[in-house]
Amino acid sequence: MAFCKNCGNQISDQAVMCPMCGTMVSAPVNNTPKATSGNFLWAVLGFFVPLAGLILFIVWKNDRPGDAKMAGIGALVGFILNIITSVLWGVIVGLMEVLLLEGSYYYY
Ligand SMILES: [Zn+2]
Repeated sequence: MAFCKNCGNQISDQAVMCPMCGTMVSAPVNNTPKATSGNFLWAVLGFFVPLAGLILFIVWKNDRPGDAKMAGIGALVGFILNIITSVLWGVIVGLMEVLLLEGSYYYY
């Protein structure tokens, strides 16, 4: 059993909040998840497959916040780059069409 550090009420080890005063009870040190620095690999995966990164982010955001963050950042960056790339391609293709049309205009 643990005791609330605010009011001294005896509370369950599993309790996250004191039922008497509502103070959040910090979990015992040996039960806290390990350092939440995510694996950079998941950022790379999210970058190349934004949808997978997004799914991993949703699935992991509670259990593996570090990896979830990595996957989420990778997905976000990959997603934004995808948009930029498609916009750029649209501009390039549009310019080429204009140039080709102008070229044919001069030939005829
Ligand atoms: Zn309390």
